[in-house]
Amino acid sequence: MGVSRIPLIAGNWKMNLDHLQAIATVQKLGWTLQEGRHSHGADGAEVVVFPPFTDLRSVQTLVSADKLDIRYGAQDLSAHDSGAYTGEISGAFLKALECRYVLVGHSERREYHGESDEVCAQKVAAALRHGLVPVLCVGETAEDLEAHGAAAVPVSQLRAVLQTLTGEPELVVAYEPVWAIGSGQAATSEQAQTVAAALRATIREVLGDAVADATRILYGGSVKSGNIAGFMREPDLDGALVGGASLDATEFAAIARFQKHVGV
Ligand code: PEP
Repeated sequence: MGVSRIPLIAGNWKMNLDHLQAIATVQKLGWTLQEGRHSHGADGAEVVVFPPFTDLRSVQTLVSADKLDIRYGAQDLSAHDSGAYTGEISGAFLKALECRYVLVGHSERREYHGESDEVCAQKVAAALRHGLVPVLCVGETAEDLEAHGAAAVPVSQLRAVLQTLTGEPELVVAYEPVWAIGSGQAATSEQAQTVAAALRATIREVLGDAVADATRILYGGSVKSGNIAGFMREPDLDGALVGGASLDATEFAAIARFQKHVGV
């Protein structure tokens, strides 16, 4: 097919790093990526961080003042645009902070906050309404894997959202097997590629070739600098969503410079 997509390396900080720690981490990430560019050539990967909401304003200020080649987004958004929704954050507010991306349906939101596929579809719609790129997270639990194999649940979670969309929306899909998140036990690159291929086929079936070819599919679950290269060699994997390892700027930068390990 020969389709090329810009690799995306994204860091989900979860509920870690306050705004002062965020400034130090993004500053260090910026310097480290910059140094890497001088010594290894431009990598071409898009680097994105997902800090807590309370850090976003500081990250925006730093990224724009220092002209850092780093993008950022939020870990969640409200399905609503404004109004009496105490504690919620509108996509409009994220757009005003120049966020480009927003995570939707991370397994921790699905598990601890009861987010259903329907809620995820509403949040994806809200993101698109506000000009944000949703990063829709899908993935099977260990029980799902045992009962249905790896692809069935992520494909059904993705289909439930895609069916509500029309046109050619820009979105990113993160395949994150729940059993691999924070466990130190990543999927193999072959396992991740098999599911990513099924996810891309689902996009093709529901939204057509252009969206299927343009959509970046990430793998997430215990990614580190030592295993990123294997995932990036797979044809349907276009990057990674990194949790724990993204909290360390040096390690996250090493993941973002995966080309060094892949040898491309
Ligand atoms: C995540 O929570 O999105 C994640 C992939 O976490 P970790 O990299 O720590 O497994």
